[in-house]
Amino acid sequence: ATPTALMVGAGRGAELGILYRSGEAIQTFKDIRVVVFDKTGTLTRGQPVVTDLVPAGGVSADELLVLATAVEVGSEHPIAQALRDRAGEAHLALPPLEAFEALNGRGVQARLEGALVRVGNGRWMAECGLDTNELAGALAGMEEQGKTALYVAREHRLIGVVAIADTLKADAREAVAALKTMGIRTVMLTGDNERAARHVAAQVGIDSVYAQVLPEGKIDKVRELQAEVGPWVAMVGDGINDAPALKQANVGIAIGAGADVAVEAADVILIGDRLGGVVQAAHLSRLTFRKIV
Ligand code: ADP
Ligand code: MG
Repeated sequence: ATPTALMVGAGRGAELGILYRSGEAIQTFKDIRVVVFDKTGTLTRGQPVVTDLVPAGGVSADELLVLATAVEVGSEHPIAQALRDRAGEAHLALPPLEAFEALNGRGVQARLEGALVRVGNGRWMAECGLDTNELAGALAGMEEQGKTALYVAREHRLIGVVAIADTLKADAREAVAALKTMGIRTVMLTGDNERAARHVAAQVGIDSVYAQVLPEGKIDKVRELQAEVGPWVAMVGDGINDAPALKQANVGIAIGAGADVAVEAADVILIGDRLGGVVQAAHLSRLTFRKIV
């Protein structure tokens, strides 16, 4: 393509809210065969609300909410925001946290009034030697409904389950369908649980799902797809944990409303939080190159 054609393409992109970091991104996009989507904050709005509070071990629902939220004060995950919103609405006072720690793809922990409190998934609870049998059924039921459900433990005892649910972006389904019409395969990559991931994928019409992927695992999945289809893999993401995979992808696409690290790692930035830009970018690349080459 001529530099002029690329400038026209980039200019048209800018009008549509699609910012290209390089002319190469426009060119590569025309041959993309697979688009990998992150789930939370990319296909979903990333503004979950608390849907369930199931206390156990003698605590009340309010105590469960207070303890879980007090630990999540240290986190920027959408899960943390949902809990803070709920505790805020209920005007609950939170104890101060000490020794906060976030464990990638597992959960968070801190000391509250001397006791170690953990909020996280079943895999992590098992790694910590906690028996989750009593609440495993309740948690699985919530996950089947597409929710992200987490255990809460104080020292070596479970004190309940909290669940949050997010809503799909208005144009997620339409965008995935349009990509498929263009012959592009769609994949979801998420750190969230398998059941919730499948529920969301079915709603959106995504072809295949990889769930419970640790942040460092996202980059490996992109590499695997590249080994399969060649250097024609695009990835769309919004989070800090998506940044390495966005770099690895042949075209990394960041949701403009997402984390700075993701935006910096991307080749293409979609202004706002719409997904339609992915489809428009694919069309634009094909048009730009059909006209000139
Ligand atoms: P994603 O953004 O795709 O959900 P993450 O790697 O951020 O992926 O999270 C993966 C999983 O790790 C979550 O579904 C949850 O089980 C657990 N997790 C991550 N952050 C937190 C947190 N702040 N509190 C509790 N659990 C968390
Ligand atoms: Mg995300």
